Parts: sequence; C-alpha cells; structure tokens
Amino acid sequence: MGTADTWGRIHLIQGDITREAADAIVNAANTSLLGGGGVDGAIHQAAGPELLAECRKLGGCPTGEARITSAYRLPARYVIHTPGPVYRGGCQGEAELLAACYASALRLAADHDCRTVTFPAISCGVYGYPIEDAARVALGAVRDFLERSALPERVTWVLFSQPDLAAYRGVLEKLRSSISP
Ligand code: ADP
Repeated sequence: MGTADTWGRIHLIQGDITREAADAIVNAANTSLLGGGGVDGAIHQAAGPELLAECRKLGGCPTGEARITSAYRLPARYVIHTPGPVYRGGCQGEAELLAACYASALRLAADHDCRTVTFPAISCGVYGYPIEDAARVALGAVRDFLERSALPERVTWVLFSQPDLAAYRGVLEKLRSSISP
C-alpha cells in the first residue's frame, strides 16, 4: 500500500549522514543520549562538543521515543535522537519499537517545520537488527506517516554501505509494487 506520491517523497542514497544537508538529521542514539559508537559517534564528532552538552540536559530517552536538539556544526538545523531497539530474535517487540522510532522522529520533525529529514539504518549496526527486516519496518512506518502528513516533504536514508543500500532498495521495490491505485 502507499500512493505513488508518497513513495516519491522517499529517497535512498549511500554515504555518510554527517555530510548530507537536511533540516533534521536523525541519530541512532542509545537511551543515555550521551553518545556512543557508530553513527552516534560520527554525529557527535561532526557536530562538536556543544551537542553532548545539550544532550546531557535531556536526561536520556526511552527506546522508541525521540528528542530534538540543535545540530551545531552539522549541515542541519536539528538532530533528532532516537534509541532503537536491541535485536533479540524478533519476538520481543522489536518491530513495534523500531516503527515507533521512525514515527516519533518524524512527528518531531513535522512539529519543527522540517521539510527534509535524513535517517541512518536505525538498530542495524551494533544493535543487530537484520537489515531487510529493519528496512521493511522502517519503510512501512515512514510511508504510513507521510500518508497522513505534508511534512516532512522529503525523507532520505543515508545508508553507509552498498549492501545496506541494496537491501533497502530491494524492500522499497517490493513495497512500491503493491501500490494502491
Ligand atoms: P545501532 O546501535 O542503532 O545499531 P549503529 O551506529 O551501530 O547504531 O549502526 C546503525 C547504522 O548506521 C549501521 O547500518 C551503520 O552501518 C550505519 N552508520 C555508521 N556510521 C554512519 C554514518 N557516518 N552515516 C550513515 N550511517 C552510518
């Protein structure tokens, strides 16, 4: 399901998310919001120490929710931090929590008038979520949100590796081919 118009607002590229300009960059954070490895570390490194100082004031964030901060030296207005679920076999509510991350992040982006948002593959690194399963949940959650909201106008996943981009592309094609008339 999903109209052609909605799918036209979703884009997939390969790259380093810290180098892509957007109104909001989403960070695959941990619940402390105090930084970590992977994309979280790269975002803090590129933003500068002011980002960590602002995050310290937030007092953490539960898995599936999101918090917004300034983006400092990143080419963005905001960073939206959302802790994804740790993958524990798939029967521990991981899909619902991952979908909630995307919906929470997009709600904050829309509330802050963001027209463009970039996402990494949340939970697909250290947190171990299988990339195809995660792509199905992620793309479905974003499609559902965009169907109901004019903002953001454009959502772009910046996938770090070629295999991750290929996995997302494959899932996107399958979902698109079941477009409703
Ligand atoms: P999590 O703890 O949510 O699994 P990770 O940071 O370990 O978060 O990984 C999430 C995804 O982000 C992985 O697919 C990883 O390859 C990717 N990633 C790491 N660095 C970057 C970056 N600079 N830009 C975009 N994606 C990145």
